[in-house]
Amino acid sequence: MSSFRNRALDEFANHRAERFFIENRPVSEYFGQNVFDVEKMRRYLSAEAFDAVKRAIENGEKIDRAVANQIASGMKSWAIERGATHYTHWFHPLTDATAEKHEAFVDPSINGAVFENFRGEALVQQEPDASSFPNGGLRNTFEARGYTAWDPTSPAFIIDQTLCIPTVFVAYTGESLDHKTPHLKSLQSLDKAATELCSLFENDVKRVNVMLGIEQEYFVVDEALYRARPDLMLCSRTLLGHTSAKDQQLEDHYFGAIPQRVMCFMKDFETEAYKLGVVLKTRHNEVAPNQFEFAPYYAEANLSVDHNLMMMILMRKIAKRHKLKVIFHEKPFAGVNGSGKHCNWSMVTDTGINLLSPGSTPRTNLRFLSFFVSVIKAVYDHHELLMSSVASLSNSFRLGGNEAPPAVMSVFVGRLLSSVLDSIENMSVDEDNPDQLCNEKLNIVNKIPEILPDNTDRNRTSPFAFTGNRFEFRAVGSSMNVASALFILNAAVSEQITAFKKRCDEIINGGAAKDDAIVEVIREFVIASKKIRFEGNGYSREWQEEARKRGLKGITDVPRAFKVFMEPSAIALMTDSGVLSKRETEARYEVMNELFIKKLQIEARVLGDLTINHIIPTAIKFQNSLIENVLGIKELFGAEEYKIMTERQLSTIKKISGYIQQLREDFHALTGARKSANQIEDNAEKAISYSDTVLPYMFKIRSVTDKLEMLVDDELWPLPKYRELLFWR
Ligand code: ADP
Ligand code: MG
Repeated sequence: MSSFRNRALDEFANHRAERFFIENRPVSEYFGQNVFDVEKMRRYLSAEAFDAVKRAIENGEKIDRAVANQIASGMKSWAIERGATHYTHWFHPLTDATAEKHEAFVDPSINGAVFENFRGEALVQQEPDASSFPNGGLRNTFEARGYTAWDPTSPAFIIDQTLCIPTVFVAYTGESLDHKTPHLKSLQSLDKAATELCSLFENDVKRVNVMLGIEQEYFVVDEALYRARPDLMLCSRTLLGHTSAKDQQLEDHYFGAIPQRVMCFMKDFETEAYKLGVVLKTRHNEVAPNQFEFAPYYAEANLSVDHNLMMMILMRKIAKRHKLKVIFHEKPFAGVNGSGKHCNWSMVTDTGINLLSPGSTPRTNLRFLSFFVSVIKAVYDHHELLMSSVASLSNSFRLGGNEAPPAVMSVFVGRLLSSVLDSIENMSVDEDNPDQLCNEKLNIVNKIPEILPDNTDRNRTSPFAFTGNRFEFRAVGSSMNVASALFILNAAVSEQITAFKKRCDEIINGGAAKDDAIVEVIREFVIASKKIRFEGNGYSREWQEEARKRGLKGITDVPRAFKVFMEPSAIALMTDSGVLSKRETEARYEVMNELFIKKLQIEARVLGDLTINHIIPTAIKFQNSLIENVLGIKELFGAEEYKIMTERQLSTIKKISGYIQQLREDFHALTGARKSANQIEDNAEKAISYSDTVLPYMFKIRSVTDKLEMLVDDELWPLPKYRELLFWR
């Protein structure tokens, strides 16, 4: 028997654990060797060029042409010494992937030889055309060029002998075509708002940075088995497959010993990641079998996002050597946990203060509370938009399940801070007794002890949880570019911090003392955002009911979640914070719908192919073997005895016919639903039609094929089974 699956299983049996990039030096000796970081800049650039880059990084100053040439020349010398032959602008189009267009350093010289050339213009700006990337109508005319422009705040790096230069990707009109541009703008907006609010507390803060620590979850599958699953190959998830008798119920994988083959892969990956200047801190098994997580040490948000995308590229490359496939899809396997990308988010001043870290004095606590309640109110005011920002076809299979953040937003702050916020809310506002009020205010602020990052008070069911000195946004999907959700969070927080400061100024101008004004505004924010706070079990039915009563809106399906981007409050948020214009927001909305349709279209086609060309023929083959068997029995034993002996066999034969019939019907219905959805011109309407009419048939088909999998001879089954994909070590 040589089915696709059996050949894959044979090949898989020969795969061994092996390491490829063994470094015997301490990590500190090779850390960052493939990054053109500040230390390398100092060595390879003139003092003038070095200062210009530093000013560009720190203050966003422009770099002039002559200096750009000097920088390019230094960068080139370093890259060539490290063996690079090509360079590329590296950008993040509105897909979940990154894009590169490689150019060789070599140029011909007059005598027929070549020389390495890399000029300032090539560093600063390129026109990769790249017209095939989604643009949502921003590049509809023939002159609609796309440009990439250097982002000096994220250092260039070398992967595969190619110097990669992080860039933004914009249309000739300046409109953004990528995830990085709005993210950078949101960071600027937040920096400005937060720095201004800081001036109420100290006067030496010149800049506030967002810090981001990203926890990346992923699955690892053997490459041979992966190749025998057309659904995994083309859709990154299994569209069918009966759950394994054992999956995660014994919880024996979570934090268990990492399997040897994966360990070899991880060590190789980490070695290369260190060379790229990424401080990988933790690695461990996740809940589902063969699910893992890594988390680098947190860094400035833009850099942290770039690092995450670099790591995704690196992992795919290195897994190949180990004959493994890394799967970033949010829900590759039904019935076991999916993968997320938790975003640990905080704001830190250039003077080193974490604004979300409660301090030990009333003063620092007042500051902490101001920022803390601003974030909570931001999440409340835009709770629906924030959930929509993580909506995608792949994440929809994970969200709202009993293992991932619920589809409704809420904020968890922990018992202690809850009681602090409650007492602020319940403060008696006794105008006749100002001394008493003042004392009460001070008492409350004093009550906050130094709350150390507390691992005991955790709520894993909350999509947005405070964890001691940062918030953790847990609804973001594992395959996403997290910038696409975080720019909305940043814009929302920036909006609230601005409102907070404005309100304080109003009260102070009315004659109130500064601290009184601050406490007053904290109280207003606590009251205004109370509905978003929830400390209980986010997975429970009671919470869904409670959230509905509170008027919180959640995601029901993906295309309807996208519609939230078109609401006036969302557009106002984008335009007021300067993150996206109305036209850019509309374009993004168009792209989200387009990607949703295309991905679902591919899934529906692959499922159709699997059903008609793999599953039904296998079912028929098996049914024939049963028929042959029954007829043989009849011949041997005669009609009377045969009836008794084959009663169950006959009913199985019938059952299989029923399933085949059902599958053919559902397949035709699926194709019909797709065809009529394809007639719809408007992308948003088309996406809704796909979601409402195509998706349900996919679930229906799966329920039948999974039953067949349990009936058919194991030898005949054409696709690697869940137990093989998930328990292969
Ligand atoms: P968990 O207990 O949530 O699984 P991990 O240790 O896996 O935590 O990851 C936590 C992430 O949060 C790490 O990337 C860590 O560097 C990051 N982190 C820690 N402190 C902060 C902070 N103040 N701001 C942002 N990220 C932080
Ligand atoms: Mg973790």
